Amino acid sequence: MKFSRAFLFASAVAGELLTQDKAEADIKTDELQRVLWNLNKIARDNGGTRAFGTPGYKASVDFILERVQTRFAKQLDTFVQPFNWTYDETLKISVTGPAGENVFVISPQYNPSTPLPGGITASLINTPVNDETGSMCLPEQWEGIDATGKLALIKRGTCAVSDKLKLAKAHGALGVILYNQAPGTDYATPTLGAENIGLLIPVGIIPLEVGTAWIARLAAGEDVKVNLLVDAVSEQRESWNIISETKEGDPNKVVMVGAHLDSVQEGPGINDDGSGTAAILEIAGSIKKYRGFPHKIRFGWWGAEENGLVGSYYYTEHLTPAEADKIKYYFNYDMIASPFPKYEISSYENSGVGPSLLEEYIESKGKTVEYAEFDGRSDYAGFVDLGIPVAGLFTGDGAPWDPCYHQACDDIDNINWEGFTINAKAAARALARVANDLSGVPPRLTTTPNLRGRAKMTQNFKQWEKRSEGASHTHMCSHGSKLNVF
Ligand SMILES: [Zn+2]
Repeated sequence: MKFSRAFLFASAVAGELLTQDKAEADIKTDELQRVLWNLNKIARDNGGTRAFGTPGYKASVDFILERVQTRFAKQLDTFVQPFNWTYDETLKISVTGPAGENVFVISPQYNPSTPLPGGITASLINTPVNDETGSMCLPEQWEGIDATGKLALIKRGTCAVSDKLKLAKAHGALGVILYNQAPGTDYATPTLGAENIGLLIPVGIIPLEVGTAWIARLAAGEDVKVNLLVDAVSEQRESWNIISETKEGDPNKVVMVGAHLDSVQEGPGINDDGSGTAAILEIAGSIKKYRGFPHKIRFGWWGAEENGLVGSYYYTEHLTPAEADKIKYYFNYDMIASPFPKYEISSYENSGVGPSLLEEYIESKGKTVEYAEFDGRSDYAGFVDLGIPVAGLFTGDGAPWDPCYHQACDDIDNINWEGFTINAKAAARALARVANDLSGVPPRLTTTPNLRGRAKMTQNFKQWEKRSEGASHTHMCSHGSKLNVF
């Protein structure tokens, strides 16, 4: 673009010009390591987590602010955007079998409390299994079943856990004992969904082996009495997004890059998403050295991503159409350092030049790039909803890419430093390019079907606020953007 070139040269006097090569060279593995070391320490000092609503998150915010607001104050304007959200955590869960034995059990996110301190002691009622359509997922599967005053024994799988709970509740159950589909005790924590706060009955998720044994006893005509106790906390807590932007650049042409700053409650979140957080922090440290780029660069560290993209949705929801128009591009970096990385570029129909900018560099480093459509599982969602051109990188969650995904072992040792450095450098190059030159960037799509999703989110924000006000004694456990509802 000739226009921007002229602009570049005109302001070159004030400082060195930003180039893709310089931005790339500024990203150094040992500096990325230093940031992740700090985030890892923050988690360690705060009960092993940096999740929404915990002191570890607050400390993470302070850590970023110490850089962008204090050290980079001359070059960046920073503001902290507060928002409230329902914090939920299962403080205690137990399932006690008929002989008083303690059974292994996990609690889903947003599990409501049982009466306390005793919990619910009731007879089990077995329910039919259907592995094709899912067990007890459909109203017709409940026909003729009266679970009044009982704990319903249901097989996990296929439909959302919350669907099974709603139907069990409608048929009189006091609670649900859900047994896993696969043997063993190594199973994932689902979420019941914040949208179901106040609508469900408590549940404990037990191993398949225990469920099978109890089914046999029920089949033999035995009255199997079980105790389910859930002590959960559910309350409004404040959280924060950090938005930092360069003083340099046209405020009407903003290019943006974001990562989420929170972890899940189960772990320190060093790959997820300490990696994205550290990459954009190091990019900010690079960008601040340069002048004369025509487009303003804005950094976003999002809060409460793991609770359902809450912070980034809050941000995009509160943009006026005019403000949304000013954001010309958004890059999202969530999990870019998985220990056994794939190099996945996420994009959608309106991504324009972004994906190829990332691909170019990653492939030049001998890595094979894969493409994926945005699936709504990270902070790009609110931007996609607004029709803003978006691209992102992702190195994979769960086996085989990141076996420590959403676990306590997502720590400083859970990082592939080579892959991380390549991705952070790719991100720096791509950002420098659009900061200088918007060629290949399509205009914002103002008629996107996703706006429907956005309206639904607004509605959810309101509903949740209302329900959690009314349900002060319902206590509730936090999990992710990669919401596993099954
Ligand atoms: Zn994440």
